[in-house]
Amino acid sequence: MEKLSNPKVTIEIIQKYNFAFQKRFGQNFLIDGHVIEKIIRAAEITKDDVVLEIGPGIGTMTQYLAEAAGEVFAVEIDKNLLPILAETLAEYDNVTVVNEDILKVDIAALTGGRLVKVVANLPYYITTPIIMGLFENHIPATSITVMVQKEVAERMQAGPGGKDYGALSLAVQYYAEPYIVANVPPNCFMPRPNVGSAVIRLTRHTEPKIVVKDEKFMFKLIRASFNQRRKTLQNGINNSAELSISKDAVVEALRKMGLSESIRGEALTLAQFAELSDLLCE
Ligand code: SAM
Repeated sequence: MEKLSNPKVTIEIIQKYNFAFQKRFGQNFLIDGHVIEKIIRAAEITKDDVVLEIGPGIGTMTQYLAEAAGEVFAVEIDKNLLPILAETLAEYDNVTVVNEDILKVDIAALTGGRLVKVVANLPYYITTPIIMGLFENHIPATSITVMVQKEVAERMQAGPGGKDYGALSLAVQYYAEPYIVANVPPNCFMPRPNVGSAVIRLTRHTEPKIVVKDEKFMFKLIRASFNQRRKTLQNGINNSAELSISKDAVVEALRKMGLSESIRGEALTLAQFAELSDLLCE
């Protein structure tokens, strides 16, 4: 069959099955083959790879993935898409479609515990829980190459000091090296989203870049430090419902680190948050 990245083919399939786009599932299907090729190239997919695709939709990118990869597991929440996927992926015997919520599926069991590359045009309403779930549940993924909202991609890649830097930047960079591959305009999707998009590749660190005594405690500190952006770090931590640390203890730790007591969260690097966390969790 002619590829779905041709908008005419997408329209035909959607009309044939009388498919109604579900806003609540973040359904914006790709209709640009060049963008899909760019995603596949950035993910460096070869026939040796097992790919996990989150939200195949009508199978537009899945068709390309099936041709490039050894095996593809595609997890789709919307059961109305299953008959469509059965037709659009009929000629590929290396694709397994699973009708599940990606936030609930046991990925390691699904893929037999093998190393995977995650590739997706993500549903934007749950980008952060999906990405953090993949990292925190220690899914054996070597890289995650995904389309996300442009603003979210910028936050993931941001370094200290800027307005985009925050808890998401630190969480992503703790686990992986982010790299924005391309910006993608709304006209590459059907229907068009009302925000700009970007493809980002997150390459998992093979060795942890930062070693911290208590990972969970560090992330609580990070969240507290960015909760009230205009506040100093010591006020943010002191006002956190998740932590009970006195201002004096924070001031003392900052002094040991050679930092000003009026410093704000956005000025600290990941290594400094790890050091602060080690000083405060004792
Ligand atoms: N990959 C397709 C493409 O690029 O044309 C569709 C991408 S669309 C932005 C997001 C897809 O994720 C939709 O098919 C949607 O139904 C699916 N989806 C939304 N929430 C999901 C969830 N929790 N688990 C699995 N799939 C989900």
